[in-house]
Formats: sequence, C-alpha cells, structure tokens
Amino acid sequence: MSLIDLFPSYSPAAVDLTDSHCHLDFSDFDDDRDIVMQRAMARGVQRFLVPGVKSATWPRLAQLRQQYASWQIAFGLHPYFIEQHGESDLEQLPHWLQQGAIAVGEIGLDAHVGDMAKQKRLFDAQLMIAAEFRLPVILHHRKTLDTMLPLVRKATICGGIVHAFSGSYQQAMAWIELGFRLGVGGVITYPRAQKTRQTIARLPAQSLVLETDSPDMPLCGFQGQRNEPERVRLVYDALRTLRNE
Ligand SMILES: [Zn+2]
Repeated sequence: MSLIDLFPSYSPAAVDLTDSHCHLDFSDFDDDRDIVMQRAMARGVQRFLVPGVKSATWPRLAQLRQQYASWQIAFGLHPYFIEQHGESDLEQLPHWLQQGAIAVGEIGLDAHVGDMAKQKRLFDAQLMIAAEFRLPVILHHRKTLDTMLPLVRKATICGGIVHAFSGSYQQAMAWIELGFRLGVGGVITYPRAQKTRQTIARLPAQSLVLETDSPDMPLCGFQGQRNEPERVRLVYDALRTLRNE
C-alpha cells in the first residue's frame, strides 16, 4: 500500500472520512469504545489510525487491532512519557512493528518536556528503525519543527504525518517537500488560531489529513469534554469553510 492509501488526504468532495490520529486504545474509551466507534461511523468516519505512545500499552493496542478491522495502528515512544521509556523499549519496537503496523509513531520532540538529550536519542533511534523497516512516521512536535526537520531528512524517512501541524507556510512546505502530510485537527475551529488557519487555507489539499487526537484537543465549543473521532466531520466542515471549498 502506498502512503496515499494509508493516509487518505483531505478532499472537499470526500464521502468517507478518516481520523488519521486518535488514541482509541486509551482507557478513556474502555467503557464505551464500541459506541464511540459506532457514533463516528454514523457520521461517515470509516477509518481510524491509532498510534501507540509507550511500550506498556503496545500489547493492548495490538490486541484491540484484532477486534477492529477499521483500525490501522502504529507503535512508538511518545516524548510525553520520556521518563517511562528505556533502551529495552527500543529493542522491543521491531517486534511490535511486525504486528501489522503501518507506521512508526507517535514519536517526536517536545520543548515543554524535560530531558531533551534523552528525547533526541530515542527519536533518532526510532527514525533509524523506521528507515530500516521502510515505514512512514507519525510526528509529535511542540516548538521543535525546525529541530526535527534535518534529523528526519538525514534518516531518509519515506514520509509520514506531522501530527497537529501548527507553523508557518514555509515550514509546512518544507515538510511537504520531504514527503509528509500535515495533520489538521480541532485547532482550526478556534478563531484565535489565526496563523495556523491562514497557513492551512493556502496549502495544497492533497497534503492535508484530518485528525482529532481524541481524547485530547477538544474542538471549539467542546472545551473540557473528551474528544471523539466523530468530530472529524466537524473538522472537515471547518476546513471546507476555511478554504471556501
Ligand atoms: Zn497523539
């Protein structure tokens, strides 16, 4: 499968939608996961890309993938959980990637999280594994887009998704030229996110993918609530309005 099949890009004429970034494996959904997915499907959200965040939850993610044919999964060590990650997790990663993963993720660098040296070491190691397996990557970033770009370029990664893109037009185009798609989520529903909204309005449609980051990143009007993949439909509507499509 090509990257395009794996991560269908935004199209103003889309019928079926994909949530290209949701953490449906999180315990937030343990009580009503089936209902959450039914609600999403009723709104035309047919596919879900669920990235892993730490080794302790990888086995469960693989197990849930067996139950849900509409899921695609990835495995990775997310910088939020940097204190929980160790060398043995890196050693385990190749094994888990062979359990039907379509990408390495969620990985990245976060300037608001401590121990940047360890973050960089783990990020680099995971990029090398992604290159070896010829898998795309799902990237988390916070004030680190420009730090990550040369590292990803050097690792000769075959593209992927920059999750929750927020940045300038120039930054966006640099990632697109590297073969990346940009994840567009609830942030565009906030009028105050002017810079990101203006950037996304100008970018090529085929470089954008829709996402929610459920259970996080609630849309405008849903603050304080658990986010759900059904709201990809609202992100899609907001994007069409923003782009006059
Ligand atoms: Zn995430």
